[in-house]
Amino acid sequence: MTSHPALVVCEYCDSVWRRSALADDEIARCGCCGAVLYRASRLDLDQLLALTLAAAIVFAIANVSPVIRIAVSGLHNEANLLQSVAALSHGSGFIVGLVAAATLFVVPLLQIVLLGWVLLFARAHRRAPGFAFAMRWLQRIRPWSMTEVFLLGVLVAIVKLSAMLSVIAGPGTYATVVLTGLITLIAKRDIRTLWDKLPAGEAVEFAE
Ligand SMILES: [Zn+2]
Repeated sequence: MTSHPALVVCEYCDSVWRRSALADDEIARCGCCGAVLYRASRLDLDQLLALTLAAAIVFAIANVSPVIRIAVSGLHNEANLLQSVAALSHGSGFIVGLVAAATLFVVPLLQIVLLGWVLLFARAHRRAPGFAFAMRWLQRIRPWSMTEVFLLGVLVAIVKLSAMLSVIAGPGTYATVVLTGLITLIAKRDIRTLWDKLPAGEAVEFAE
C-alpha cells in the first residue's frame, strides 16, 4: 500500500487535489463538487484525547442515570436509556429497539473507544494495533450516531406527558445533552491526517 500524503481525494466525486496548509478555521473544498475535503484543526492530540475521555465518563453517566421520571398519585417510575431500549425491544418493537440500541449505544460507544484507542498511541507517535481498522470504522459509523435524535424524542415526550402526569427530566437527559455536544466535537475533527503523521512502522497494514 503506497501512501501519498501530499494528495487528497474527494470522497464524493473522486477528484484528486494537492494538499495545502490551512490557517485556523479554514476549510479546503473540492473544486469540482464543493464538498469539504479537510478542515484546519485547532485542537491538538492532547485536547482531543481529553475530550474523548470526558465523553467516555459522560457516556457512562448517561447510560446508568434515569432519563425520565414519571410520578402519578404518589407512585413514581423512572427508566434509564438502556431500560428504555429494552422496553422498546419487547414484541413487535424489536427492530425499532435494535436500531435504537445501535444508534444510541453501540455507535457512540464505538466512536469513543476507537478514537481513544487511536489517540492514546498517537500521543506516543505510534500507530495503535488495528490502526487502519479503527480509522476506517470511525469514518464509516460517523453518520450513525444519533444521540441528538433521542434527545429530541425525550423532550417531545416530556412536553406531551407533562399535560397528564408529573414528568421530570432525569440526570440521564442532562448527561445526554453534554454527550451530544462532546460527540459532535470529537467526531467532527478530521483525524485522517494521522495516516500521514504516524509512521506505519512494523504494524501490518491491509489494503481494501
Ligand atoms: Zn468533489
